[in-house]
Amino acid sequence: MTKNYIAGEWVNATEASPDINPSNTGDVVGEFARASAAEAEAAIAAAHDAFPAWSRSSIQLRHDILKKVGDEIIARKDELGRLLSREEGKTLPEGIGEVTRAGQIFQFFAGECLRMAGEKLPSVRPAIDVEITREPVGVIGLITPWNFPIAIPAWKIAPALAYGNTVVFKPAELVPGSAHALSEIIIKAGIPAGVFNLVMGRGSIVGEAMLKSPKVSAISFTGSVSTGRQVAMKCVTGDPMKKVQLEMGGKNPMVVLDDADLNVAVECGINSAFFSTGQRCTASSRIIVTDGIHDRFVQAMTERMRGLVVDDALKSGTHIGPVVDQSQLDQDLNYIRIGKDEGATLAQGGELLKRDTPGFYLEPALFTNVDNSMRIAREEIFGPVATVIRARDYEEALDIANDTPFGLSSGICTTSLKHASHFKRNAEAGMVMVNLPTAGVDYHVPFGGRKGSSYGPREQGRYAEEFYTTVKTAYTFDGNGPYVPKTKGSE
Ligand code: ADP
Repeated sequence: MTKNYIAGEWVNATEASPDINPSNTGDVVGEFARASAAEAEAAIAAAHDAFPAWSRSSIQLRHDILKKVGDEIIARKDELGRLLSREEGKTLPEGIGEVTRAGQIFQFFAGECLRMAGEKLPSVRPAIDVEITREPVGVIGLITPWNFPIAIPAWKIAPALAYGNTVVFKPAELVPGSAHALSEIIIKAGIPAGVFNLVMGRGSIVGEAMLKSPKVSAISFTGSVSTGRQVAMKCVTGDPMKKVQLEMGGKNPMVVLDDADLNVAVECGINSAFFSTGQRCTASSRIIVTDGIHDRFVQAMTERMRGLVVDDALKSGTHIGPVVDQSQLDQDLNYIRIGKDEGATLAQGGELLKRDTPGFYLEPALFTNVDNSMRIAREEIFGPVATVIRARDYEEALDIANDTPFGLSSGICTTSLKHASHFKRNAEAGMVMVNLPTAGVDYHVPFGGRKGSSYGPREQGRYAEEFYTTVKTAYTFDGNGPYVPKTKGSE
């Protein structure tokens, strides 16, 4: 059984759980420790004790550790990608791609350690300077989901450590393998005891312990809307209140206009809706298509979908891997039933598939004749199930695109500069893609959304400092002028 990493030691747990390969449920990736509340508290205490020294540690040391981590991840991308695809079910190229991105994120934040800047301004009073600097926040609890088993932990752990915070990391129950491998790399790179702690286990036990602890200063969470809301409530009602950042669901629109390049639109549709088995918060499950191209688009999409190979994530030639587990598969099938009951047309797919090994194989499904008020157009399904919604013209398409409780990503396929520019300005989403899939983002720029999708500052790129640091404003009277400690208007 693999262990948790607490206070600089690998620690046995009393409970363990199997990590199952969704492409072959007979294949157990490993038995992973499940921490108790007491173990989570020990990790929090260790991170709390380690904070004073780490928060003042040299930026060269932090740079060197993060750089080593990034370099090793990239050097081992094939092996780690294989492990990731085996436990999560995305295809091997997708798994290797995600691992590479995780490595690049660590390398990026290694560089950021050396670029922490402040500001210096004159005061409105004479002989006084004002300095604005950023300081670490404290112990940060990181709660991550199963759909990006290494990239999401990377984009939380790397900035947390770079900016001088200490970390308690709780990965999702379904994907402890990648989290464990990443932790081994961080430890091997020389992270001091207590600065980084891995506590695998249940959200209701380990996550809950972090939310309750007065020693945790901030929580960064990615997961479902319902859990996210509970996390935020606990952070703001606890004593002391915790800083909180949430990334949650999406129901991302992708608009296709009459003047779109049909090939580009179909490739964007296939990628956005079905790659990574549709299990991405940036996936598009609402493809909004104007009248003039609607029938041609649906025909080309369904034809392209029939050529998609759904099979074992590790087999070469597989385009779409399995759904992650039985409960997610049940949810997908349930929404396919709901779509039919609501009167939408299942134009393609939606059948369970049998393969050589027992796994959660689902044929990508596309609904047409969908109204934006239907549940399949409003609620996040998180599987390879997408809808096509017909629109009269660009204006109606934009209205439909924005008529959703979510606001993470949005896309438009068009050759019109006028419509593309209007959409960029008016899409109510954190990210807008023109002639590109709604998913697939760079690692050095901000990621996040609006409305029901996100809460708190952005993740990734330089914008990550907003969450992982706290601002200090310092005033100094230097004696080179009259002493005016207080003026009208100053507090
Ligand atoms: P998903 O559908 O991706 O599993 P969840 O929101 O259930 O979404 O899970 C995301 C993360 O939140 C996981 O690491 C999970 O263990 C954790 N989690 C679940 N319930 C709680 C909770 N009550 N408190 C804190 N964390 C939780």
